Amino acid sequence: AAMRPLPYFCRGEVVKGFGRGSKELGIPTANFSEQVVESFPSDISTGIYYGWACVGNGDVHKMVLSIGWNPFYKNIKKSVETHIIHTFKEDFYGEILSIVIVGYIRPEKNFDSLEALISAIQEDIEEAKSQLDLPEHLKLKEDNFFHLPEGKIVNNH
Ligand code: ADP
Ligand code: MG
Repeated sequence: AAMRPLPYFCRGEVVKGFGRGSKELGIPTANFSEQVVESFPSDISTGIYYGWACVGNGDVHKMVLSIGWNPFYKNIKKSVETHIIHTFKEDFYGEILSIVIVGYIRPEKNFDSLEALISAIQEDIEEAKSQLDLPEHLKLKEDNFFHLPEGKIVNNH
């Protein structure tokens, strides 16, 4: 199937995930609600992506995004999870997360060990950081999408 051209703009509520311990690994992932995930286009394939993210009307930060199959629903439902490359003072469940998916990093993988998983994610984060410093990607940080009134749910403008 043809891949949807990026960037892709998406906004929605942050909900509780299924406690896969990402926060314990130092890599918390903000999960989108089922409603947002269901509205996600199927031509954005599963895998790891990089982009920009903003909580409420806060600052825009770099992020890595995982689109995968959700084991809680016997892998028939997708989950869309954003790790924002920023240290927050508090959790932000219930807030509106706005993201722009900018580029693809790699497919989903299974890892033999926790160490291998963590180091792969660290590599994804480094890749995201350097990709997003490119001028054509930096300009999306300033996109008007991030300055629309809070709470307005708009997928792809
Ligand atoms: P859950 O299974 O509920 O998604 P996680 O361990 O993945 O739990 O933690 C995700 C939550 O951590 C987010 O919903 C958010 O409230 C909080 N959080 C704090 N810092 C970050 C961050 N840098 N990126 C993403 N989420 C963060
Ligand atoms: Mg999570």
